Amino acid sequence: MRAAIYHGRGDLRVEPVEVPDPGPGEALLRVSHCGVCGTDLHLVLDGWGRPGSIGGHEYSGEIVALGDGASDWQIGDPVVGGPEPSCGSCRPCEAGRPSLCLARAAPGVSPFQGAFAEYVRVSVSQLLRVPPQLSLRDAALAEPLAVALHGITLARVGAGDRVLVTGAGPIGLLALAALRASGVEDVSVSEPHPLRRELAQQLGASRVVEPEALDPPRMPFEVPDSAVDAVLECSGAPAAVESGLAQLRRAGTLVLLGTGAGRPRLDSHRLLLNELVVTGAFNYDDRGFEQALALLGAGRLPTQQLLHQQDVPLDGLLDAMKALAAGRIGGKVLVAPA
Ligand code: NAD
Ligand code: ZN
Repeated sequence: MRAAIYHGRGDLRVEPVEVPDPGPGEALLRVSHCGVCGTDLHLVLDGWGRPGSIGGHEYSGEIVALGDGASDWQIGDPVVGGPEPSCGSCRPCEAGRPSLCLARAAPGVSPFQGAFAEYVRVSVSQLLRVPPQLSLRDAALAEPLAVALHGITLARVGAGDRVLVTGAGPIGLLALAALRASGVEDVSVSEPHPLRRELAQQLGASRVVEPEALDPPRMPFEVPDSAVDAVLECSGAPAAVESGLAQLRRAGTLVLLGTGAGRPRLDSHRLLLNELVVTGAFNYDDRGFEQALALLGAGRLPTQQLLHQQDVPLDGLLDAMKALAAGRIGGKVLVAPA
């Protein structure tokens, strides 16, 4: 089969490799679609990747082979790859927070070979069935949508709340669309790239601004007129973390979803005087994939606008990554490897 193999910073090559053999409890999928994530951009363009690895973790496909002991599944089942199983017995797992499982591997060291390939081998414990009314193409949004939903859960926002989303990449736009679908009307978005600001507008943002427009108040106890109950930080930019904190109402919550190597400065007086909450958001809620598939299956999200119109072949992946990083593409790019 052909796969996009990471060799080093900016060096991604489509090469022939052996189709993996599903072992006990594993399935082999023919990959239908695999989304390109902001994390993939870090892995490939910023050099965070592991040489020899195949990326791609937002995939949908069809089961084409099964190892022993996978009797609940059948050849031809349409599926998406879900979270790696958590132990189920550590403190976070018992508290219903599998994304914090103490037994999970450190990010980036998993030996998993991803779905920027024609086939992917996956443990059946990680599979979720795609509902019949949902296309495999739209189903590839389940993973990033589950990420966005987890951020929304941790932000504890309700229908009457005001929310700011910083960063209108796929995660930020999915968060915006999911908030709007759940009845939150006042959602502002900040984003430097015009194409993405335009998409945010189309997806129902109540206010769309350039990051510089988020003027921090001068004193730490001052709260701006435009202040919000929650900020979903989806850019990973230190400046967005810093200005996001300064956009919170008293007792507001800043949720960090974006990753980046920079270290933001934390205004501890602002935190203290306004009793602000800052939390990270890693991966998904306990039932996050099920919720994401249900939302997508019910047609509650404008997937036409969220997805870049043109899917790319494996050969086009590196160029698409560069175009995404440069902001020349607005929506989520899907690789269609077949
Ligand atoms: P992306 O890179 O496409 O989106 C980031 C967006 O932020 C871009 O549109 C960029 O222009 C914008 N941006 C840059 N500086 C900004 C600023 N100062 N203010 C506002 N916006 C700014 O990535 P994505 O696929 O949407 O993912 C978003 C982030 O989430 C990435 O950092 C990714 O690594 C991370 N991520 C986290 C998890 C998790 O579990 N928390 C899961 C998946 C992805
Ligand atoms: Zn656990």
